[in-house]
Amino acid sequence: MKLDPKALRYMSNEEFRVLTAIEIGSRNHNIVPAPLIAQLSHLRSGSINKHIGDLIKRKLIASESSSKYIGYKLVYSGYDHLALRTFSKRGSVVSVGNQIGVGKESDIFVVAGEDEQEVVLKLHRLGRQSFRNVKLKRDYFRATQSPSWMYMSRLSATKEFAFMKVLHEHGFPVPTPIDQNRHCVVMELVAAFPLRQIDRLDEPGRLYSQLMDLIVRLAKYGLIHGDFNEFNILLKDNSTPILIDFPQMVSTSHSNAEYYFNRDVDCIRTFFKRRFGYESALYPKFTAKLDKEFDLDVKVAASGFTKKDQSQLERLMEMELGGGAEHQDIKDDDDDDDDLPSDEEVVYSSDSDASRGNTGKDDSDANSTDIGDDDFIV
Ligand code: ADP
Ligand code: MG
Repeated sequence: MKLDPKALRYMSNEEFRVLTAIEIGSRNHNIVPAPLIAQLSHLRSGSINKHIGDLIKRKLIASESSSKYIGYKLVYSGYDHLALRTFSKRGSVVSVGNQIGVGKESDIFVVAGEDEQEVVLKLHRLGRQSFRNVKLKRDYFRATQSPSWMYMSRLSATKEFAFMKVLHEHGFPVPTPIDQNRHCVVMELVAAFPLRQIDRLDEPGRLYSQLMDLIVRLAKYGLIHGDFNEFNILLKDNSTPILIDFPQMVSTSHSNAEYYFNRDVDCIRTFFKRRFGYESALYPKFTAKLDKEFDLDVKVAASGFTKKDQSQLERLMEMELGGGAEHQDIKDDDDDDDDLPSDEEVVYSSDSDASRGNTGKDDSDANSTDIGDDDFIV
């Protein structure tokens, strides 16, 4: 993926209007016909055709024909441009720097934010891979419109930002969230390496306990990270773990909570054993006792990412990734120690709160409808 700041700088307001019109039109058209683009952008069809041609050349949109008409659709780079323009207007991103990460479901860039400070821009890329289980997808969406990559990626970014915010507000070691728009999140750049890149630790037991404590503390607040592994833990100053990557977080009230919790714990145990030769008989176990200190899960729902959004994203991720976690090759090769005593017991509420916080939020994109006239400056 290339994020070319020059392309943004040289994009005219009219081109942005056309791009935005295609985005709005895609809410109820798989491919957006030119007359609708004209109507939504309030531009003359003569100039629209020229802009469409230019946008296709620059690979921001693509043309496609249905049995009835030729139309246009956004591709990822077009969507990126729209989000960047919004960030630019808000001042949260003023220039784009180097790409520092590319995952299955994201691209990560270092960008300059307010006061030229370096921050991280994460672009969510759900749907980049084709759905693994096409049949499942077809069954699930038979009655509804098939979800677009745009919708899925936006949902994922919205979730990540909502969780990061709530976790940050409650003192969890996560990057400071800065802004979110469409499929993108802007956050603090953590000056640290992922645990994956650390070969040696003076006191592996110390970090091991810190990580297990973090898993337990999350659960006491009603949450499970769901992908708690050496790729998603950044180690600051070789001692302080910072947790990242939240699109797959689940509530401790989830029907598979125990499975996700144990998987997180196992990831850490397995990694410490393999990498540092460190093993401990002490590790937390999930228990169904009711003693939740706080329900962050409910707070997240209240912040705008509803239970309905949550369950839909879960389904989509399951379909796309076959289970959610990004590194499923991590196997626990030592499963006969399940009976060992645990150092702490995690306590969670087993009451279902599926009905709470479900405000029935629809698919409309509240912050993407303005077709503004401001220049985009990178
Ligand atoms: P993915 O969903 O693709 O796994 P992550 O959020 O885990 O995306 O980010 C991928 C990589 O990018 C991380 O392993 C880390 O190296 C880097 N990264 C992500 N966020 C930050 C951040 N806030 N500060 C520093 N590095 C980051
Ligand atoms: Mg990750």
